[in-house]
Amino acid sequence: MRHIAIIGSGPAGYYTAEACQKQFGDDVRIDIIDRLPVPFGLIRSGVAPDHQSIKAVARRYEQVALTDTVRFVGKLSIGQDVSIAELLSLYDAVVLATGAPSDRPLGVPGDDLPGVIGSAAFVGWYNGHPDFAALAPDIDGRDIVIIGNGNVALDCARILAKSADEFAGSDIVEHAYQRLSTAQPRSITILGRRGPQQIAMTPKELGELGHLARASVHVDPADLPPPESDAVLEPGQRKSVNLLREFAQDHPEKAVPIRFDFFVKSVRVEGDGKAERLVIEDTQLGANGESVGTGATHSIPADLIISCIGYRTSPIPDVPYDEQRGRFANEEGRIRPGLYCVGWARRGPTGTIGTNKPDGFMIAEEIAKDQPEAAGKQGRAGLDALIEARGLAIVTFRDWQKIDIAEVERARSGAPREKFVRVEDMVAASRG
Ligand code: NAP
Repeated sequence: MRHIAIIGSGPAGYYTAEACQKQFGDDVRIDIIDRLPVPFGLIRSGVAPDHQSIKAVARRYEQVALTDTVRFVGKLSIGQDVSIAELLSLYDAVVLATGAPSDRPLGVPGDDLPGVIGSAAFVGWYNGHPDFAALAPDIDGRDIVIIGNGNVALDCARILAKSADEFAGSDIVEHAYQRLSTAQPRSITILGRRGPQQIAMTPKELGELGHLARASVHVDPADLPPPESDAVLEPGQRKSVNLLREFAQDHPEKAVPIRFDFFVKSVRVEGDGKAERLVIEDTQLGANGESVGTGATHSIPADLIISCIGYRTSPIPDVPYDEQRGRFANEEGRIRPGLYCVGWARRGPTGTIGTNKPDGFMIAEEIAKDQPEAAGKQGRAGLDALIEARGLAIVTFRDWQKIDIAEVERARSGAPREKFVRVEDMVAASRG
């Protein structure tokens, strides 16, 4: 019997489990281990609460979870409760699918002032991740600056700008719903260090911003390059730029103006004990399309600054780490024979949820290549012995199903669920 441990129960973890089942058939036992008592990682804690159709993919992961060859081991932290060396001694292969849950630092003076947060924290807060449930960002009447021109920046702007009614059908957690539905930002500014043609925003997500009840979207026409230069863009990008061109046309300002400010980079955050202003420098495109400062600076009001500039994988003791790229040091997913990584922990935080699927299949093939035969290791029996010896209480998939039912039962009217946001409440629900 071949034993595989997958660390992380998000899309990368479940696609890898599915691929290993296809690769090894009944001759494999797979443990999917997560530090939280609840599965599905990014689907639960990253995907926006008003994008329920994207979350539906969790049903596919559930089918994998309920097969005989796979089990979920929740509330077990690898690197703390159990070391990588111990896992490697118990399993034929250990696959790190831990994602990229930490913010890349903004890296400018003043970025440690209260009022400066990263998107992992803000998204984690409105999605009820236990690490960020206490964030309570100050929003009402505030000038909010979002740094970055990717889809995460769009998620943050849209969630901040929505009215109470527009959260209908979402699973936004109660603490965030209460705050957001009773607060109205004075302004939201989305900063791009490059221009409209360089955004990393997809048209569907960008288009949503233009249909909000109380928010109007504004682009300075002077930031837009000549329309004929869009011809070289690939079709999706051309659509996104076209939307920005529509936003640049004259239209009335609504209660929450969302302004795109292109060709500016952050220089420093200023304020008396908390963020009040962001000093920015004008930029232009360099010869290779990079952002180059012009030396001209000015400041904009910024009570809350959310940097949406990408994520980093959290290091695990004894696993080689690429500091510069913010992910595990690996070659095509192989860290060393027996130890692998997939998804954002392998590639960095890019691509859609579906991008993780080929990743998982590739790693299953690598495992088969590296170890044509199982080595007769203990697998889950050995892990269970360690868990028992250390007095740890894990959460199984059946336990999660009880949490799931409890969350659905306590949902606000019209909402699919009300998540538990404290680990102890999740555990209590799992015990019925
Ligand atoms: P992203 O797509 O890589 O965008 C990051 C943005 O931050 C870029 O505009 C980048 O600009 C900018 N940036 C990086 N460093 C910066 C700095 N120091 N100062 C100012 N700006 C900086 O990352 P993301 O938005 O975090 O999204 C991660 C992945 O998840 C993406 O693949 C995204 O499409 C996906 N996602 C999808 C959805 C959806 O489909 N609904 C929702 C959320 C996320 P440069 O281009 O100049 O580097």
